[in-house]
Amino acid sequence: MPTIYLGLGTNLGNKEENLRTAVGLINEKIGKVVSLSSFYETAPWGFESEHLFLNAAVGVDTEMEVCDVLKRTQEMERELGRKSKSVDGVYSDRLIDIDILLYGNRIITEPNLLVPHPLMTERAFVMLPLAEIASDVVHPVLGKTLAHWAELLKDEATEIKKKEFD
Ligand code: ADP
Ligand code: MG
Repeated sequence: MPTIYLGLGTNLGNKEENLRTAVGLINEKIGKVVSLSSFYETAPWGFESEHLFLNAAVGVDTEMEVCDVLKRTQEMERELGRKSKSVDGVYSDRLIDIDILLYGNRIITEPNLLVPHPLMTERAFVMLPLAEIASDVVHPVLGKTLAHWAELLKDEATEIKKKEFD
């Protein structure tokens, strides 16, 4: 069974609760959650907003086909009250964004689905949480471990804070 890795982000409302609710739904509707990163507070990327993001990564064991995973994650985004989609590459505030980062070592290039997520290795807010739970996993396209790719972003990563919750 492949382990898939999902990236989660939220910058509205009770962000810790949004992430925990999403993880619960993923466990219920996609497959067994086998790993969960710390929650990281990060500045918005690609657009201006006063709302900081809270980001996390989650590992899931599932038999589900990747297109069905996408359908479910999109349902969850709607269910959790996502108000707006990115339009023409313009990003916006959101209650929850769920991206498929990796699906085992599969490479998927469908019009509506690119896996590995093409921008993941450029984004510290994705790679820090992901490398925390999957440091030894090798990137299926670029090769090398996720720890390696996260390390390259370490300058940017100084602006990212691991959040402590009780
Ligand atoms: P972003 O996640 O880049 O902030 P959106 O969530 O609004 O932007 O974009 C979602 C769109 O991206 C969907 O229409 C979906 O089909 C497409 N997409 C392509 N690859 C992926 C992926 N690996 N995970 C999630 N969505 C993806
Ligand atoms: Mg998305």
